[in-house]
Amino acid sequence: MFLKFNRLWKESPLKSSYDAVIIGGGLHGLAAAYFLASRHNIRDVAVIEKKFIGCGAAGRNTAIVRANQRTQENIPLYKEALDLWPILTQELDFNLMFYNCGNLNLAHSDAAMKAFRMNVATAQFHGVDSQLVDAKQCKELVPALDITDRPRYPIFGGMFHPPGGIVRHDAVVWGLARGASKLGVHIHQGTEVTGIGVKHGKVVRVDTDKGRIQTTRVLNAAGAYSAGIAFKCLGQRLPISVLTIQAMVTQPLKPLLHHVVSSGAYHAYANQTLKGEIATGAHMDPWPNYTNQSTAHYIKHQAEAIGEMLPCLRGVKFMRIWGGLADMTPDMAPIMDGHIPVAGYYMDCGWGYFGFKSSTVTGKYMAQYVATGECPEILKPFRLKRFEEHRLMGETAALVDYTANN
Ligand SMILES: Cc1cc2nc3c(=O)[nH]c(=O)nc-3n(C[C@H](O)[C@H](O)[C@H](O)COP(=O)(O)OP(=O)(O)OC[C@H]3O[C@@H](n4cnc5c(N)ncnc54)[C@H](O)[C@@H]3O)c2cc1C
Repeated sequence: MFLKFNRLWKESPLKSSYDAVIIGGGLHGLAAAYFLASRHNIRDVAVIEKKFIGCGAAGRNTAIVRANQRTQENIPLYKEALDLWPILTQELDFNLMFYNCGNLNLAHSDAAMKAFRMNVATAQFHGVDSQLVDAKQCKELVPALDITDRPRYPIFGGMFHPPGGIVRHDAVVWGLARGASKLGVHIHQGTEVTGIGVKHGKVVRVDTDKGRIQTTRVLNAAGAYSAGIAFKCLGQRLPISVLTIQAMVTQPLKPLLHHVVSSGAYHAYANQTLKGEIATGAHMDPWPNYTNQSTAHYIKHQAEAIGEMLPCLRGVKFMRIWGGLADMTPDMAPIMDGHIPVAGYYMDCGWGYFGFKSSTVTGKYMAQYVATGECPEILKPFRLKRFEEHRLMGETAALVDYTANN
């Protein structure tokens, strides 16, 4: 007897023309497609995915969401993203498994506490719930922490962000794909974009290995491959490096970690999944790379860091390890822009560590940009020309040296 599986989205033949073409069936591409169809009634849209949807960083991340970023340009975007999870769960009629368990970032020095103070003040100014907590409060939140001076980096306190948490990443991919497909969007898997045709300074065509598509609007949302596509198809150089991020999960354990906990000093973060596994991640590999392979270097680092941060996990077995690619800009903030170098060409890339938590809200605003041709106010700080104008954002401070990834 064969089981019959119903695809959540329809298979459709590749047409010779579409109103808009989206390169990449990751979170950003699918979200933009869904919002184009649902909010702007632009349904004649093709999502072109070279392998299968969610095969990139979309299906490889550690699913952490939060809004306590560092800079005032970023916080409103991430705040709206957090607010969107329950709305989308209902709208898509798909359980995205948003678990707002809260995020605790640990500080291991006075300097880190000072930096957290600034971070908390900026977040609170933008209406985001973020609190400074002392070491004792950290212990109350996560009893497994060792707040004595025994660990290599003793805990001075932390920054607690109650509305953050985790969302199931494949559910977001599948929910958006189903939602977009129901509204008429075509999802073409196993189809690679190979070129973008331009005439008189405007997009006229997208070339794929399965045929040519006439279109006047194309969104480059190809994650780690966005910069390569921009250069190969349009000769545009983007300030993006591609690096590998690795992650691991332990064997399932009884509930012991009720919040996401992270530490910049250890370069490690952890949360307990609904299955009981401890999902852990760390900093990106320091060398540019296009491989999803894991390294012994990372396994050793991660085991040591987690064992120091949460001593009760020493001796626990790691069950799986994987890697994914991250497209990283010099200021750790994304590039969202349009009409450069040619009219009708849009880009949404450079997401580094933060592209899961931002995906739905970015899809919403990039869809507005593609639909109207006008850059929404909230996206203006993320334009490419900030690099030319030396107006980089301080978003690096959301990660390096005092908080941990994601
Ligand atoms: C291990 C790890 C942990 C992470 N943890 C977090 C986290 O906890 N929180 C968070 O916010 N972010 C996290 N991230 C980052 C986040 O996953 C990414 O920023 C996000 O998935 C980027 O989404 P995307 O849609 O831009 O790219 P992707 O999901 O990578 O999608 C791009 C798609 O484009 C396709 N493509 C490429 N070239 C072509 C082409 N020529 N033609 C057609 N299709 C093409 C690819 O196959 C791919 O499917 C993590 C990343 C990794 C790797």
